[in-house]
Amino acid sequence: MIGDDEQLLASPHLYIDGTWVAPVGGGTRQIRNPADGTVIAVVDEAGSADVSAAVAAARRAFDAGSWSTRPPTERAELLLRVAELLDTHRDALARIETLDTGKTLHESHIDIDDVIAVFRYYADLVTTDSDRFVDTGNPAVVSRVVHEPVGVCALIAPWNYPLLQMSWKVAPALAAGATMVVKPSEVTPLSTIALMRLIAQAGVPAGVVNLVQGDGSVVGAALTGTPDVDLISFTGGASTGVAIARAAAEHITRVALELGGKNPHIVFADADHAIAVDAVLTGAFLHSGQVCSAGTRLIVHESIADGFVAELVRRAAGIRVGPGMDPPSQTGPLVSAEHRSKVEAYVALGISEGAELVAGGKRPDDPRLANGSYYLPTIFDRCHRSMRIVQEETFGPILTVERFSTETEAIELGNDTSYGLAAGVQTSDRDRGERVVRALRHGTVWLNDFGTYTPAAEWGGFGRSGTGRELGPSGLAEYRESKHIWHNTAPAVGGWFD
Ligand code: NDP
Repeated sequence: MIGDDEQLLASPHLYIDGTWVAPVGGGTRQIRNPADGTVIAVVDEAGSADVSAAVAAARRAFDAGSWSTRPPTERAELLLRVAELLDTHRDALARIETLDTGKTLHESHIDIDDVIAVFRYYADLVTTDSDRFVDTGNPAVVSRVVHEPVGVCALIAPWNYPLLQMSWKVAPALAAGATMVVKPSEVTPLSTIALMRLIAQAGVPAGVVNLVQGDGSVVGAALTGTPDVDLISFTGGASTGVAIARAAAEHITRVALELGGKNPHIVFADADHAIAVDAVLTGAFLHSGQVCSAGTRLIVHESIADGFVAELVRRAAGIRVGPGMDPPSQTGPLVSAEHRSKVEAYVALGISEGAELVAGGKRPDDPRLANGSYYLPTIFDRCHRSMRIVQEETFGPILTVERFSTETEAIELGNDTSYGLAAGVQTSDRDRGERVVRALRHGTVWLNDFGTYTPAAEWGGFGRSGTGRELGPSGLAEYRESKHIWHNTAPAVGGWFD
């Protein structure tokens, strides 16, 4: 690490009640660069006693009203200061994210710009929204619905977009006036540690934002099993989501779950060929497929399938896999050797299920990549909806191909998933496009595009992809309670029991 990076990551302790502290009960963890396996940082990890201290600090800060009672304009000012600081440290943050996750520096820069945009969006939204007045039919009554912060939040994020996913939670939670305890993935905590430093620098009151990095089974479980947390907002895998929903049920804690996806990308015969090929490649292989909304399930019309797949195979073979810090690299390594083993197990499964391996299916031969957790873009043709490789989230650079003959069949295949996070449709027929996007049961549907988003539009899933929404006005509503205030301005004896 160099210069600004070191400053942002100086003393990577826990951040509790406005102070950087060493853990009472935890240990330390070596953070490795997936591009070459080298240790890039050693961070403290919390134990359950540290989690209790962090939750207690967040509770005190909430109850004292040091943040929750500040006017929206003041909260917005803090968010804008954070955005400024993120902008100032944009390059260092991007480098940290690339060293930690393996993604290309170009992608990391896009992530940081999106993070800045999220803070700015919620700064704007919180100052423009207002109470809702309700007409009760009684002119003597002033009835209004006001929004109040939900309380103490546990914010838990995954490793694939560490800073981005965390900012989708922290920015609206701060805007709403909530207090929080933040837990990044144990694998990629560095950019979240840096974010905490910048939020502290921006002047957030002590106890409002607390950081407890550490193992999910210890820190995550402690955070989600306590009655002192009012809302758990979690992004991660479906099985962890189930465990968290169970823990939350014990105390009727509110829970928002952004889980995985197995996202169909439907290509009709009338689609613009070059645009569709490009969108499918980007959707499947960006960040080596470690994207919750990755379009890893191609559903292509049978009349164009052979040529389309041949072109994908040709283009996939040309994708430059390499270290994220090297400008020529177009995609980086998988996040860890352990994760690559899971992806390799899925490739073996696909072969055993009878899918036809037509691209990749192995680690790169380049000896310079031998110490990193790289895997080549992989394509399986002749897949069937019943295969596990088609139905399960592989979270790696694996694209499966199914063929369809009618629009109805394409929709049916696109909805044949227990998930429902995202889908793509490529067609030049406007009416068909509208019919199909409306029929697909997914939280985001791209028409003639794939993977793009804006902080102003909701993000989240149908089915097993989760509950609740991030981003947009709903992303702010997650962190609020609604309160109805009924004010009778001309009270009189009701006489009910006369
Ligand atoms: P995991 O579910 O393994 O982990 C997510 C977070 O939960 C991590 O911080 C993890 O900690 C923590 N955790 C693990 N066990 C528990 C527990 N028992 N209680 C509380 N917290 C726990 O997911 P991954 O990190 O592997 O991320 C990949 C998954 O995330 C994929 O399924 C992907 O689809 C999904 N995802 C969804 C997105 C969406 O918007 N819907 C966006 C991005 C990813 P630790 O790492 O320390 O174990």
